Amino acid sequence: MVINLDKEWFELVIEAKELGISITEIREFFKRKVYQNTEVIALCTTFNKNEQGYKEWREKNSNGFVFNHFGNTDSAKQMNKIHRANCTYLKRSKDEGKRTHPYEKICSTNLESLKEHLNIPWTYCKKCI
Ligand SMILES: [Zn+2]
Repeated sequence: MVINLDKEWFELVIEAKELGISITEIREFFKRKVYQNTEVIALCTTFNKNEQGYKEWREKNSNGFVFNHFGNTDSAKQMNKIHRANCTYLKRSKDEGKRTHPYEKICSTNLESLKEHLNIPWTYCKKCI
């Protein structure tokens, strides 16, 4: 079977892969866009056991926002914070090598999109926002 994929689409898929965006996330993005019929929503990218992808995302999107996802238990809820991508808390050297596990990061260039994406309790980091 020969698949004829437009060159631009092909490049877009490659680019998405390099950014660490999964096919599932792209599908969800289109679904939300169709169902909500709102303005373009910035993608939220989840980094789970992806230190390199997360590092690159933060370097490219220093004006973006990062959600530190500790979990959904009562004690973890207090720790679920939205940071600015350039927050010093996210750069602590003691977290080197374990920034995306066991606690994943959810990132977006747009704060509203990130907030909309999160269906769990969270608060802002007092240090950076
Ligand atoms: Zn912060």
